Amino acid sequence: MQIIHSASELQKVVSAQREAGANIAFVPTMGALHDGHLSLVEIARDRADFVIVSIFVNPLQFGANEDFDKYPRTLQSDAELLAANGVDVLFAPTVDNVYPNGQVITHHAGAVGETFEGAARPGHFDGMLTVVARLFDIVKPDFAVFGAKDAQQLFLIHQMVAQSNHRWNALQIIEGATIREADGLARSSRNRYLSEAEHQAALTLSAALRAAESATGNASSRIQAAAQLLAAQPQVRLDYVALVDPSSFEAVDDSFSGRALLLIAAKVGNTRLIDNLSITI
Ligand code: AMP
Repeated sequence: MQIIHSASELQKVVSAQREAGANIAFVPTMGALHDGHLSLVEIARDRADFVIVSIFVNPLQFGANEDFDKYPRTLQSDAELLAANGVDVLFAPTVDNVYPNGQVITHHAGAVGETFEGAARPGHFDGMLTVVARLFDIVKPDFAVFGAKDAQQLFLIHQMVAQSNHRWNALQIIEGATIREADGLARSSRNRYLSEAEHQAALTLSAALRAAESATGNASSRIQAAAQLLAAQPQVRLDYVALVDPSSFEAVDDSFSGRALLLIAAKVGNTRLIDNLSITI
């Protein structure tokens, strides 16, 4: 596996691969890799001849009071994991390389970017879309793989690509299912912030998703089933539990039937966690 830090060097490698007829899959990450990331790598490997993973902690998507400075940075062990999982290139650029013209927002997430995670983290999705667009410009992949764990992010990336007027040619966005620990907790780089007691409390999120899935009735009763469990766990400070239409990311009302996404965001200790599940109502 090659480790490349500069955008121009990466572009040379990509051009050579293209000339040799390879197609390219790309998995953008912020590092501190876990099985969730590796499941996306596996999808990428199944789809394409050449797999590029990026590790870049994007300052533009962190708010002033968020964990940018203390976000885990474990490049050495991440590189070992990626090499062992058949990745061809690890792209680990510097901030200046990604933003040669300064840290300027170039993409706006619009109305959906201001709800749910966007309401809790103003500007987060503009920063996320800006870096994803920039990385797509550099890598020019045929496939880019993202996790369902970050459902609103995935929705907004689909929307950006659909509205981009083929800026990235025939780029296909591929979704990877949420990978969980054996106890149900969705894998996240931020799980390492949790104490053992907080980890136990955090299991309420996935339990609440399952409770809503197996409850009967309309949207309100599903949300209530989840909310009841969450309210019973004092260490979980709920931000929102909501049921959205996956085609619009807008909250559904009680007349809705079909597949909907149940979203939960909560703080456990100082750690903000999100999770979601697609359920049929
Ligand atoms: P991050 O490093 O947190 O920015 O995540 C990089 C990619 O991994 C994103 O597409 C995430 O949605 C995805 N991801 C994070 N956690 C999981 C998980 N538990 N299962 C599947 N994909 C995940």
